[in-house]
Amino acid sequence: MRPAPATVQEVHVSHGEHPANPTLADGIRRATGVNAARCYQCGKCSAGCPMASEMSLRPHDILRLIQQDRKEQLLAGDAIWLCLTCETCTARCPNEVDPARVIDALREISLGDPEAAAAPRKIRAFHESFLKQIRRSGRIFEFGLVAGYKMRSGALFDDVSSAPGLLRRGKLPLTPKRIRAIPEIRRIFEFCQAAGNEAEEP
Ligand code: SF4
Ligand code: SF4
Repeated sequence: MRPAPATVQEVHVSHGEHPANPTLADGIRRATGVNAARCYQCGKCSAGCPMASEMSLRPHDILRLIQQDRKEQLLAGDAIWLCLTCETCTARCPNEVDPARVIDALREISLGDPEAAAAPRKIRAFHESFLKQIRRSGRIFEFGLVAGYKMRSGALFDDVSSAPGLLRRGKLPLTPKRIRAIPEIRRIFEFCQAAGNEAEEP
């Protein structure tokens, strides 16, 4: 369902930081450097989004709700979790807004907000398993990703029949290969964690 149009009173466009009463747009701007107020709702992001037909909120709807500081409505649905991070929206935006980055920040805000609706279990399980693999090895280790996903999601026996064939063809290595720049990867995670914490601060 598309969000109801806001009344004039509800519209709260963030043009600058409000230290005493920070808005969601302020938090997004601190975490990502993206100023949501720059979005002028042209819809080019949504027109190119491969997931738009599946999402209850399209990328330009998400930017609009941020401008209106409607955090609860924004985090209540599954739209931010269906984004593929393909960055088509970001490439198409004529005004240097970065919807893909904004959506990623919203996921982190949602995970850190006890009042936000829980992410769909399977999507959250994949998100966490994926990040854990990148943090640990700097790249995806498919076997670890699948094992972590299954443990977190409870989908223990989904697709198990495809495992023997993948193992036989060497498509599912049993040991991870680490990249050399692991310290840099860890620093990126620490930086993002610190930025996320800062964005959540009142
Ligand atoms: S990054 Fe997400 S929101 Fe943007 S076009 Fe891709 S799927 Fe759609
Ligand atoms: S393309 Fe950019 S300016 Fe246009 S609606 Fe999307 S985010 Fe806003």
